[in-house]
Amino acid sequence: MKNFEYVRPDSVAQAVQALDRRGAMPLAGGMDMVPGMQDNVIIADRVVNLKSIRDDGVRGIRETDYGLVIGALTTLTEIAEHPVVQSHYAALAEATVEVGSPQIRNAGTLGGNLCQRPRCWYFRNEHYNCLKKGGPRCFAADDDAENQYNAILGGGPAYIVHPSNCASALVALDATFHVAGPDGPRAVHADDFFVLPTERLLQENVLRQGEIVTHVEIAAPADGAKSAFLETAERAGFDWGISGAAVSGVVRDGVINGPRIVLYAVAPIPWRARDAEALIDGKPLTEDAIRAAGEAALAGAEPLSNNGYKVPLTKTMVRRALARLA
Ligand SMILES: Cc1cc2nc3c(=O)[nH]c(=O)nc-3n(C[C@H](O)[C@H](O)[C@H](O)COP(=O)(O)OP(=O)(O)OC[C@H]3O[C@@H](n4cnc5c(N)ncnc54)[C@H](O)[C@@H]3O)c2cc1C
Ligand code: SF4
Repeated sequence: MKNFEYVRPDSVAQAVQALDRRGAMPLAGGMDMVPGMQDNVIIADRVVNLKSIRDDGVRGIRETDYGLVIGALTTLTEIAEHPVVQSHYAALAEATVEVGSPQIRNAGTLGGNLCQRPRCWYFRNEHYNCLKKGGPRCFAADDDAENQYNAILGGGPAYIVHPSNCASALVALDATFHVAGPDGPRAVHADDFFVLPTERLLQENVLRQGEIVTHVEIAAPADGAKSAFLETAERAGFDWGISGAAVSGVVRDGVINGPRIVLYAVAPIPWRARDAEALIDGKPLTEDAIRAAGEAALAGAEPLSNNGYKVPLTKTMVRRALARLA
């Protein structure tokens, strides 16, 4: 591991100040960052440990007039076990409880989960200097590549999938991410927070140098609002999912309004299946409608050489998640 300077800020303001220079990175639970640094694929010359921040707003879960506020340093265990999250924001509770193992959820935080780096094998191997690390090409796009876990939607020139399942749930729940930075605080809709490689190659979100996520806000659910998250993993109870879906909508008398269908682990960002959403909006959630939504959600898929299996698998994830709402 490369040597680095270590900073323990007392406040968000101090953290932002310490991070406002090239090569400085925030550290939260360290579940992604520390192994990445040990493997020389995440390089920081200044590590700013957010856990020393004493400001109240960055920790814990609070109910407000608007809905729910979750501090970025809240652990995944706290979120998964929170009764209000479980009863009113099921997609988030179901996504959070799927993260890694209990040990990882006890140490890992919401902010770190949303901002974790990609899992692509070539990215995680220091000997492959691929596009995502400023190198000349994407190794995953080769015909003989180990690309079974890479993107089938929205790929190019890089084909990562966004690793955070909480991110898909929060997009489905139309959350807002609050960010602090050198230019002051700003709010970013979850829909706009994650960016495709065509927009930014070296990072997966809109954060600028010096900015951190401080908290996430989700509106109180409307009467009849429901949500669900489902994933498939090769080793259940430990691994990242290889496909999944987060869905939400207001369901009354069997009719769904304002559906959101977000695909997980198939695109470089949590992937809104907008055609599928439009297909079922305002309609009864029948078996036929659910099947049609699954087909529409994957209509634009372009698998790589070894990940065609994700197309039927993800259709099934969408169908099963929507069936839960029905
Ligand atoms: C075996 C294993 C299995 C896992 N399985 C899953 C899984 O199934 N699903 C899943 O989603 N994740 C999974 N993870 C990934 C990840 O470790 C956890 O999701 C965890 O939440 C990361 O949080 P952390 O606080 O430890 O982040 P850290 O490792 O501290 O940070 C991760 C990244 O986020 C940045 N960061 C941290 N906090 C902030 C902030 N507030 N603002 C801006 N940037 C920030 C850091 O600079 C770093 O780049 C797994 C990890 C392991 C080791
Ligand atoms: S998909 Fe992204 S991380 Fe993987 S090899 Fe291609 S550029 Fe690198």
